[in-house]
Amino acid sequence: MLARAITLVESRRPDHEVQARELLSRLMPLTGKSIRVGVTGVPGVGKSTFIESLGCMLVERGHRVAVLAVDPSSVRSGGSILGDKTRMELLSRRDEAFIRPSPTAGTLGGVASKTRETMLLCEAAGYDVVLVETVGVGQSEVSVAGMTDFFLVLMLAGAGDELQGIKRGLLELADCLAVNKADGDNAARAEKAAGPYRNALRLLHPPEQGWSPPVLTCSGLTGDGIDAIWSTALEHREAMGEGWEHDRRVQLRAWMWELVNSELRRRARSLPIAAQLEEELLRGEVSAPAAALRLLESLDG
Ligand code: GDP
Repeated sequence: MLARAITLVESRRPDHEVQARELLSRLMPLTGKSIRVGVTGVPGVGKSTFIESLGCMLVERGHRVAVLAVDPSSVRSGGSILGDKTRMELLSRRDEAFIRPSPTAGTLGGVASKTRETMLLCEAAGYDVVLVETVGVGQSEVSVAGMTDFFLVLMLAGAGDELQGIKRGLLELADCLAVNKADGDNAARAEKAAGPYRNALRLLHPPEQGWSPPVLTCSGLTGDGIDAIWSTALEHREAMGEGWEHDRRVQLRAWMWELVNSELRRRARSLPIAAQLEEELLRGEVSAPAAALRLLESLDG
């Protein structure tokens, strides 16, 4: 039933869209009771191995775990670097787990919005932990941070300058950073790599913000450190107190306005006058602000 509901919210058929809105509205009172965790990192950092390990641990503890993905590559190419079901073999065999690959249609905003809707459906179906995976490129991690309570950034111990290539924006979004693959010969290197990240995060998150994102090490392969990361997520909720609910309200409002933005844009673009105004704009006959206003006024009419 859950899979069918998700197929319905992902459908672009107008009659399905009407049904999906109705379904979501009815289910809203049953949503919101899960812990929503975002997991990001570059391809190969070990996201799916980590999520499988964390997911299995949580299932063992009596949780019901849903795994969703926001995959920017699926938007551009139709291919996918995430959400491949077969990657999380152990977890996908558990009845208490639900793994859903990324929706492929539309823009990233569209994919992210469908993932949000899917998250709500999973909550209504009784999943009390939702893990949302994304590749750390561009806009997708901002989307995922905007729909989760706890945002985990997985890193690797690299050679040389650890902070090179790490976007400041990504560190600002993180509630926790974990240097992954801290196993075997790599364990000591991972611990060493954590130092510069700790310093960087201290600068970015002054203590008065209520939460200082910790930098941990872990191994999705051996399971080392996974427990500590889950404890950190629970501590974060504790520490944030009412801020946790406040953040969710902020996210919910932002989501609505995002949908309004994209729908307004879609409607404006589909107006016959839109193409004509673009041409006038490029010929220098009308200014961009004047053209925008005329388009918006045509929407009213
Ligand atoms: P993703 O692309 O971020 O989802 O990464 P995967 O989970 O698919 O892992 C990429 C590669 O790294 C695979 O070959 C994994 O076996 C390996 N790997 C993943 N996690 C670990 C880990 O904790 N330790 C080690 N040594 N290898 C890992």
